[in-house]
Amino acid sequence: MTTRLGAHASALATLLAASLLVLPARAVEVAFKPVADGVYAFIGEIEGRTYDNEGLNANIGLVVTPAGAVLIDSGSSYQVAAKMHEAVKKVTTQPLKLVINSGDQDHRWLGNGYFAGQGIETLAHADAQADMQARAGEQMDGLKVLKERLDGTRPTLPSRFVKAQDSTINMGGTLIELKHRQGGHTPGDTLIWLPQKSVLFSGDVVYVDRVLGLHPVSRTKTWLDSFAVIDQLKPQTIVPGHGNVTTLATAQAQTRDLLLALRSHMKKAVDDGVDISAAVKSFNGKPFAHLKHADVWLPQLANQTYLEVERE
Ligand SMILES: [Zn+2]
Repeated sequence: MTTRLGAHASALATLLAASLLVLPARAVEVAFKPVADGVYAFIGEIEGRTYDNEGLNANIGLVVTPAGAVLIDSGSSYQVAAKMHEAVKKVTTQPLKLVINSGDQDHRWLGNGYFAGQGIETLAHADAQADMQARAGEQMDGLKVLKERLDGTRPTLPSRFVKAQDSTINMGGTLIELKHRQGGHTPGDTLIWLPQKSVLFSGDVVYVDRVLGLHPVSRTKTWLDSFAVIDQLKPQTIVPGHGNVTTLATAQAQTRDLLLALRSHMKKAVDDGVDISAAVKSFNGKPFAHLKHADVWLPQLANQTYLEVERE
């Protein structure tokens, strides 16, 4: 009896192993989860860009109003954008009327071409434009890992830019406020605030669960200016750019406090004439070591912040 069962189990294990080998590659499944009344989010992976996650390793927002649906960010590719549109239709019968790009990193705007083809308006802050134009090629190169899943993607500028630092969109009585303070992670970073729901879509101004990223276009100084707006708004709920839906306290601890620690350490190092390698080495990253990718990113963040502070 035991032997027969054992033989059975091992045959089953062999079968299972074989079926695992022929499993097709995974693809990103976009589904919006409720965050507040009429407000939804897709929470992306906090890993790097892969063929499996289709470069949608970021969060996307959805606001359903009596005058149509509004999507926050257009995703990393044409194909991902099409999936996002399908996911919107599963949540609401309201037509998608507007797509807001919360910044100018690839997964915030490279899906614009799909929405433009559907006749849907796309919008970003005017400070995003130059960076979108300058880095579109570089961002497409960075998504080569998507192979044929990048087919159809053509970097497409938003159909509308807003210039004011504060502006309000009224969609059938639902207020959507846009707040821009010269960006941070990217020059066009814009906070999307729903005052009636106390929900903030922070874009890449807030990273939780994983360590934030700094690129040559990033500025920790204006990033903190953007964050100061969040401190004032005191949102009940924050949908960060990366990581799970979160609270103000967690956003402060995992994004703002890291930026403050980096800047104060590097300011002192530059003032004291400490060279960059010693300053990077002496930065105390322990309070942030639990964040994903901290081991790889923290020295890079320290390095980049030193150079920025030195230029100021
Ligand atoms: Zn991002």
